[in-house]
Amino acid sequence: MINVTQTYLPPFEEYSAMLKRAWDNGWVTNNGILVQELETKLKTFLGLDNLLFCANGTIVLQMALKALGITREVITTPFSYVATLNAILWEGCTPVFADIGPDTFCIDAEKIEEAITENTEAILATHVYGFPCDVDAIQRIADKHQLKVIYDGAHAFGCSYKGKSLLDFGDISTCSFHATKIFHTVEGGAIICHDKALFDKIFHYRQFGHIYDEYFSIGINAKNSELHAAMGLCLLPLIQGHIDRRKMLADLYDSLLNKNRIKITDAYLRENNNYGYYPVLFESESVLLKVMDKLREHDISPRRYFYPSLNELPHVNQQSPCPVSESISRRVLALPLFNNLAEADVSHICSLINSVQD
Ligand SMILES: *Cc1c(COP(=O)(O)O)cnc(C)c1O
Repeated sequence: MINVTQTYLPPFEEYSAMLKRAWDNGWVTNNGILVQELETKLKTFLGLDNLLFCANGTIVLQMALKALGITREVITTPFSYVATLNAILWEGCTPVFADIGPDTFCIDAEKIEEAITENTEAILATHVYGFPCDVDAIQRIADKHQLKVIYDGAHAFGCSYKGKSLLDFGDISTCSFHATKIFHTVEGGAIICHDKALFDKIFHYRQFGHIYDEYFSIGINAKNSELHAAMGLCLLPLIQGHIDRRKMLADLYDSLLNKNRIKITDAYLRENNNYGYYPVLFESESVLLKVMDKLREHDISPRRYFYPSLNELPHVNQQSPCPVSESISRRVLALPLFNNLAEADVSHICSLINSVQD
């Protein structure tokens, strides 16, 4: 069985040696030494000043909205994982969708301007597949209308843009270190911001809003453990090798797929990408479904990532149409891409896909 992704696990001995440090300390959570060491190494690797390692990539979105005081309308993308939308709803804010660009899969800055009302307070955009949002245009709009900008960078670990980490934009950026992501801590996430006061606020949020007997604000439990940090410390030194390996496999897909019928990602979007995903676009949903059937017959399981378009979900009240996102989400498929995927498997997958008749 070949899945869309496969979690990379370090040799067990390496992980247990890392865990031994926590055992020897008798300290397993609450900002322990492994968590602190991982944060330091992540900041160095990503070139960031302020980063907090947290429980997952969803709670960091919720804390971002809370820390920026957002309570009303948030303009967001309909083409993302449902966690992006859920964070807005969970915080009691109102999502307003702005459609995506047909080539970039990311929110269309022009559509953001059209969606602004007197209740708009923030923009929450996703760097889908690690492809950069139009961060300059988005910042210009935010400055003009005094809006906060949050980036869901769940896919953006190891991606760079304009010479710095893609996680270094907006008022706040977040990341996910879930086991399906390119760099993972089994469960985990991070929150990144520039402003030190904002950072301190989120630091307090992460641990119930207090340090010992000193109470600062409301808070939540968004901490992560030494056992999770240990995984991250084992994997971080390997990450560049994994990105290189995935790039090689993505290039192989590029060369073998029949591009007369299948739209692959424009090369400029993949400059400085982490190759977390390999999305392809078919001409119609019916072709996509035939391709999925064909692959499943051969025990290969790609994923409709992301389907449906979030504006079409039943629990969303405001359902303004987003034709580009709706069309793309019906036709896009993430093909298997992971470190241990064999070149022969990529060839096999491509020949199966190329053999499907309209
Ligand atoms: C994975 C993902 C999340 C959620 O991250 P978790 O760590 O699983 O909570 C949020 N947004 C996007 C775009 C994701 O892909």
